[in-house]
Amino acid sequence: MTTTADTSSGFDSRTWGMLIGGEIVGADSGKYEDVTNPATGGGLGRVPVGDTADVDRAVTAATEAFGEWRDEAPLYRAAVLRQIADTLLENRDELSHLDSLDNGSPLHEMRNDIDIASYQLQYFAGLTLEVCGKTVPTVPGIHQYTSREPYGVVGRVVAFNHPLLFAASRIAAPLVVGNTVVLKPSEHTPLSTLRMGELLTDIIPPGVLNIVTGVGAVVGDALVRHPQVRRIGFTGSHSTGKKIQITAAESPVLTTVSLELGGKNPIIIFDDADLPAAVEGAIRGMNFTWQGQSCGSTSRAFVQRAIYDQFCNLVAERLDDMAVGNPLDEGSDTGVIAFAGHYDRVCGFIQRAIDDPEVTLRAGGLPSDENSEIRHWIRPTLFTTESDRAEVVREEVFGPVLVALPFDEYDEVIERANSTNYGLTASVWTSNLGVGLSAAKDIAAGYVWVNGSGAHVPGAPFGGYKDSGIGREEDIDELFSYTQLKSVVIRH
Ligand code: NAD
Repeated sequence: MTTTADTSSGFDSRTWGMLIGGEIVGADSGKYEDVTNPATGGGLGRVPVGDTADVDRAVTAATEAFGEWRDEAPLYRAAVLRQIADTLLENRDELSHLDSLDNGSPLHEMRNDIDIASYQLQYFAGLTLEVCGKTVPTVPGIHQYTSREPYGVVGRVVAFNHPLLFAASRIAAPLVVGNTVVLKPSEHTPLSTLRMGELLTDIIPPGVLNIVTGVGAVVGDALVRHPQVRRIGFTGSHSTGKKIQITAAESPVLTTVSLELGGKNPIIIFDDADLPAAVEGAIRGMNFTWQGQSCGSTSRAFVQRAIYDQFCNLVAERLDDMAVGNPLDEGSDTGVIAFAGHYDRVCGFIQRAIDDPEVTLRAGGLPSDENSEIRHWIRPTLFTTESDRAEVVREEVFGPVLVALPFDEYDEVIERANSTNYGLTASVWTSNLGVGLSAAKDIAAGYVWVNGSGAHVPGAPFGGYKDSGIGREEDIDELFSYTQLKSVVIRH
């Protein structure tokens, strides 16, 4: 089936290619799949449907490129990363436009993603010479030292919600320490990654970075299983993360896996908090600006009873005022859900919450015909309930859906906040720093804000407790995680 080109967005629909061994290529099978704009249904071109043969080609190219790349001067590798960062910024308009068309998030937010990707590349470039070893005191005649060495070929599999940001920033740490990479973008949002591949052909030596498109169950699976891939870095859902652990265990070789997974993150608002700031914090923390499609979204708001009604009224008013519209329109506060299957999934959660007698709809809800120029839009939605059992309280919706619940006591709210298998982020609002510090310690999550939400501090580790993941990213530990520690003992 061929879709009609999306001329309304000024987009030149075309055939895209993967990056393998420094060349822009189609799939070995010759197969392509149409990519569409989720907001309009218009065609954005066709993308190769990669399979195991393409993964094998990419891993072979990455294996061949490894020795030379590993042996380059570290500052040369850092300079390449800086060139990538500069190239992304030089092409910021085009890349953000592609992301907005392909994944439905507002253009102004996708511009910000390019900026973040660029500074993360710069950050890891700057850390290059910190990949140090140490010496251990020993006896005369023996000298010992450690060094950190790359794994070889790293497989990087990423999620759909921040396409270019994940594609560009998640290759920085493995590359700068001397690994080569095979990158697999989400099949739902591959375009900006493929454009990045085209832009980098003159910057990255052939085979050092390879990009393979296709569905996760084929391309992602083949990458994890591949005997020449000893290190996998994954960003995506908990269920896929578990599958990857199983697949890695079935691989003929031992594979080290790090997992950045989902969350059902709490935001706790005590009655001594600055209420207007907490309301804004709850909205910011939900990431409505990319339709709530964020692992870190604080989607369970526990609000102390004395301010509960006021909080819910204020949040509902603010959500009703948010402009839902075409992602390319600078006036849109929030865009559309990234693809049809996910739109149906989010609508299913909303419908079941509406049908639940213990849950009340306070803002948003299921879409109507009020805005028919675009598809797949869902208004920022607020539910309230006293029941922690409700599905919308327990499950990660990964959409623009916040649920508010009242609480009475500190111990009670900490227990309820922790009563999920997830543990990615949490946000606490209070004017009592002692309460804030206690909550930061008592909440089982990898990233906690006190009187804040949403924003990642550059260089601060990000990652999950419990079922939200294994490993940390965005900091020096991520860099080290792409190295193996070697101990050398010299008798002299
Ligand atoms: P997903 O798990 O469906 O897909 C993620 C990636 O895995 C895609 O590239 C997909 O093609 C691939 N994949 C799918 N099946 C695979 C398999 N069997 N083997 C190997 N790879 C496979 O996730 P998604 O829908 O793209 O993203 C949403 C999820 O990601 C949410 O749960 C969200 O919370 C999570 N997420 C986490 C972070 C984080 O940093 N912790 C960031 C973004 C998204």
